[in-house]
Amino acid sequence: MRRGLWVAVLVLSMSAHAAPVTVTSGTLTVTYTDPRDRAHLGLVFRTWEKTADDLKALGLTVQPVRLTATSSATTFARVTGEPASIAASTRGQTITTQRLGALAGRGLLASTIRHEGFHTAQPPGLPRWLAEGLARLFSGEAAGDSAEPTGLTALSGAQLDARLLGRVPGQSGAAYREATRRTKALVARVGWRGALRGK
Ligand SMILES: [Zn+2]
Repeated sequence: MRRGLWVAVLVLSMSAHAAPVTVTSGTLTVTYTDPRDRAHLGLVFRTWEKTADDLKALGLTVQPVRLTATSSATTFARVTGEPASIAASTRGQTITTQRLGALAGRGLLASTIRHEGFHTAQPPGLPRWLAEGLARLFSGEAAGDSAEPTGLTALSGAQLDARLLGRVPGQSGAAYREATRRTKALVARVGWRGALRGK
């Protein structure tokens, strides 16, 4: 169903053949191709500024980050090697996203910036489930999680990591919730700084 939505968005954006535009403010450089994405730059940079402050408050180092908003879901999937149905993908200090307008239209733009922003600054060596759980707590996405059982409490950390990596449609939601549930419990026990050390 989510995939279908992106396909519809793709059809609407077929007329956008403009050259990429790059804008830098502070530590963030954004490149977009769909001219309509320009309308969302204000929110992107405001969100990034707050994100960077919050990351520093956790003792993390904020390095210059490059964000590329692809022109369509198809391009996103081709560039990242990820499913066309996800919002964004981060490698090191480089974030690749769907069109900014597509994310904004689904109310996901600010939380996506915060989530991926966390990944650009996370300490090396965190298990995937903990990195995702912390990113979802940091972004505020965790607040929207349903309280129903995930059905995944018996999985080992490595098995949960595999579920997150596989992104099996219909299962990834529960895997992300389970990762977040475990992360919340860890943060309650050892605090953010302890959790960031993977303890
Ligand atoms: Zn993530």
